[in-house]
Amino acid sequence: MFSNELVNKFQSLETPFYYYNVALLKETLEACQAASSKYNFHVHYALKANFDERVLQTIRSYNIGADCVSGGEVKKAIEIGFGKEKVVFAGVGKSDAEINYALDQDIFCFNVESIQELEVINDLAAKKGKTARVALRINPNVNAYTHKYITTGLEENKFGINQWEFDKVVAALRNLSNLKCLGLHFHIGSQITDLNVFKSLCIKVNEIVKWFVDRHVEISVINVGGGLGVDYYHPDTKSVVDFETYFKIFDSFLERSANQEVHFELGRALVANCGSLISRVLYVKNGQVTNFAILDAGMTELMRPALYQAYHKIENISKTSGEKTKNYDVVGPICESTDCFAKAVELPETQRGDLIAIRTAGAYGEVMASNYNLRDKVRVVYGE
Ligand SMILES: *Cc1c(COP(=O)(O)O)cnc(C)c1O
Repeated sequence: MFSNELVNKFQSLETPFYYYNVALLKETLEACQAASSKYNFHVHYALKANFDERVLQTIRSYNIGADCVSGGEVKKAIEIGFGKEKVVFAGVGKSDAEINYALDQDIFCFNVESIQELEVINDLAAKKGKTARVALRINPNVNAYTHKYITTGLEENKFGINQWEFDKVVAALRNLSNLKCLGLHFHIGSQITDLNVFKSLCIKVNEIVKWFVDRHVEISVINVGGGLGVDYYHPDTKSVVDFETYFKIFDSFLERSANQEVHFELGRALVANCGSLISRVLYVKNGQVTNFAILDAGMTELMRPALYQAYHKIENISKTSGEKTKNYDVVGPICESTDCFAKAVELPETQRGDLIAIRTAGAYGEVMASNYNLRDKVRVVYGE
């Protein structure tokens, strides 16, 4: 919900832009910290969800670690001031240059996705006379029951080391003397809203940890990844994720000993709700079958609907509720038919110049913006 005052301010600004509600971001971070610290859980923020400078600064100030999936993200995290000893680095395709950079920075841990990658990191660390801390990213074959394009923990996915390779991994670790294995890492997908999935993950993790411990592989870090979903349908009433329930599941179902740390990597749950994409209606086309509201924002600003059929709540914030409504296909100006935010959205009768808010766009929004069609870089406005 946007106050009249805020809508008036938006009226005077050039659109489209991302609006970040920093107060809501802080409220979310506080809720996350309060819930996770009860159990001494370690939380890393997945930079890929949103790497806006102000957003990162705010998150860093809550003493959260960083989860990176490229050398660029490792660099950014360190520049922003996330402690190096709290930086983890995952990704199925780390280049030699990225690995060397992270070795030079002495990051906390590489989350390693294959035996070949273990060998490469070992070689590169040896050349520097260093020991690299690694965790094995395991593909636990647990279904996240989310959209298939954002599922990562099934055998058909490219991520992680599969169970049938475990014997080989244990043998490899014995020979790779420039590696120190800290533990295991899992990340099974994103926008997970069925919390039973995390219970299933815990049960699987318990089995796998035991398997490695039985073979004398020391497991001091259990990193269960991220993936906690948000409610895209109720951005105002469910604006902060239920972190209490989420962390409690891990406390209840994840077996661990006193010397084992539990780590999390949350992206979306921390930043999705604090962001909205604000745009103007350029044209309205009233058709015989379909009406179109054509916005000045498109898939170049927010790609999620085109990329994985994502739902975002769409509001006409220039109109008050209670006015006569109509259905509109809300589309962007880009020359692609998938440049459509949603079909048949019920909105108050809409006119050229109206402001449209696309809600819950703080995660995987601005970071995926492109300049396709030679579009301008999307602007950002902050609210306190
Ligand atoms: C993307 C990603 C995350 C964060 O996922 P969310 O769904 O945004 O919480 C965590 N860990 C890894 C390895 C990732 O690739």
